Amino acid sequence: MLKKIVFLGMGGTIAGTAESATDNVGYQAAQLGVEQLLSALPALRVTLADHAPVVEQVAQIDSKDMGWPQWCALASRVAHYLALPDVRGLVITHGTDTLEETAFFLSWVLPAEGLAHKAVVLTCAMRPSTSLSPDGPQNLLDAVALARAPDARGVLAVCAGTVHAARDVQKVHPYRLDAFTSGDAGPLGYVEEGRVRWVHPCPPAAPVPVQVAIGQLSAQHWPRVEIVMNYAGATGATVRALCAPAPHGSASVRGIVVAGTGNGTVHQDLEAALQEVQGQGVRVVRATRCAWGQVVPGTEPGAGLPHSEGLSPVKARIALMLELLASESKG
Ligand code: ASP
Repeated sequence: MLKKIVFLGMGGTIAGTAESATDNVGYQAAQLGVEQLLSALPALRVTLADHAPVVEQVAQIDSKDMGWPQWCALASRVAHYLALPDVRGLVITHGTDTLEETAFFLSWVLPAEGLAHKAVVLTCAMRPSTSLSPDGPQNLLDAVALARAPDARGVLAVCAGTVHAARDVQKVHPYRLDAFTSGDAGPLGYVEEGRVRWVHPCPPAAPVPVQVAIGQLSAQHWPRVEIVMNYAGATGATVRALCAPAPHGSASVRGIVVAGTGNGTVHQDLEAALQEVQGQGVRVVRATRCAWGQVVPGTEPGAGLPHSEGLSPVKARIALMLELLASESKG
């Protein structure tokens, strides 16, 4: 059976264009369709080898504008293709700004069976397609090599030749081509000349603590979870304002993730407000604003606020949204 690699376009800088080839920052993201990106890449034929491409544009946005409706649409298309026996793997072209969030979201909602032997690979670019030296074409070829690799499985990201797992990947630089890290976990591997060199075996799709079926996701309804940060001089004012009765027609806040300082520590005034709203039924989760490492439980003050199990604030927010969604469906 001729196997397929599916390309899903979401927009981003990889599909961006600028007026000048020397301008790598003043560009418009999401200007070219994924079909155009592929047809501008003759080398793709070699990397695809005997795989046939299937191409679909799911969204066309700057990923700073990513939201729940686009995630619902993407998850449903990915699940559809993953279930087809002739699909070998998927490549998603995406903006870098929220790539780590989309990867994490997909890793929690896609059916584990679908990911057991197939990879969903997100890729991106830091420079627009019109750049004198764009990084998108190589990233795209690397993504195809990864999606076809025999040991690849689960939701992965590849950028600048480095392979990251959805749980660990994080954008840490606003400009460099190698803008992502996997923090303490380290990368899973590297793509070199079209071959993947694993430094860690690709982990099996992790069993996630909550199961939200794709069919349960609705673009119109999602639990509102906000993120607040601790810093010198933080007060409880933002939390109290967020959790005040919502004006007619707007969703009330169901959860708050606090990006704490250091080991998840929180200013006493902010902590008092968080305890207060937690007592009123708002779910509160404590993460750290540190880019690396995770809250080490048991040693930190504020033990009354559950910690994020090693998730960054943005990923803890997604986990909490999905948890709230799952608990709604249990009634
Ligand atoms: N703002 C762009 C986006 O996330 C940045 C990028 O793709 O590098 O869509």
